[in-house]
Amino acid sequence: MNPVSVPMLSLQGVGKAYAGNLVLRNFNLDVQRGEVITLIGPSGSGKTTALRCMNFLEEYDEGEIRIRGALLGYEIKANGQRRRESERTIADVRAPVAMVFQQFNLWPHMRVIENVTAPLTLGKGVPPDIARVRALKALERVGLSNKAEAYPAQLSGGQQQRVGIARALVVEPEVMLLDEPTSALDPELVDEVLEVIQSLARDGMTMVIVTHEMGFASKVSSRVAFMEAGQIIECGTPRQLFTAPKTQRLRVFLRTWFNRNRNGTVDIEEITHAEGVS
Ligand code: ADP
Ligand code: MG
Repeated sequence: MNPVSVPMLSLQGVGKAYAGNLVLRNFNLDVQRGEVITLIGPSGSGKTTALRCMNFLEEYDEGEIRIRGALLGYEIKANGQRRRESERTIADVRAPVAMVFQQFNLWPHMRVIENVTAPLTLGKGVPPDIARVRALKALERVGLSNKAEAYPAQLSGGQQQRVGIARALVVEPEVMLLDEPTSALDPELVDEVLEVIQSLARDGMTMVIVTHEMGFASKVSSRVAFMEAGQIIECGTPRQLFTAPKTQRLRVFLRTWFNRNRNGTVDIEEITHAEGVS
């Protein structure tokens, strides 16, 4: 296989059930290096589950998830059956992937700098002095080097989420997964977080982002994927999805969003800009 053509992240025919309830069904998505995919869709459609399967925070039941070509989570035995891989191998395969959570998930009793060094010192055995230098660099990237010694509770929600992003960046990931990174924030704190994410996109970071911010999705996405009932039912450029939705379900979803967000706009100029069309 030509290594250039191997997607950074690939999900083929992925299925997942909770206690008999099918949450992902025949989920297919290839993410190429440098792509930003936004996952949109109604609550309960399986967006979080899809994201958590992508780095094996959840096991999946069917299909294959590959990170840079390597099968995630399972080994296939000679008889075709699959078995959960050793934790060591799972950790190796998902090493290029980092996650940003909706609720930040910072440790309240640890300073910002300790939260950000933790994935290196606890997870990877990086010596503390080296971890500290890398953590300060990650904090600088999100504009928070001056908050290194603060505790999470001393920061605004927007700042806490930027720490969450720094903690993901510190492992120097090749793919970042972000689950509704701004939905726990007061409205006036949303933009500072979206701006950080946009700057990562501009620098070429590969990302899969679950979001309800349609204006942001239109600006940042290489492709938008609309999920319903555990499946991607439409996937395309922001222009395709936002200006010419093919399915009635997406039309209804977008109409509802626009009705709820009377000030919300999806700016065609910006879509055009994102596509590199002058
Ligand atoms: P979304 O992020 O799109 O809102 P989720 O992936 O969180 O959707 O959930 C999809 C479906 O799976 C929902 O019906 C939800 O209730 C169910 N679900 C999610 N997590 C669990 C779990 N740990 N146990 C049982 N059901 C779950
Ligand atoms: Mg969710």
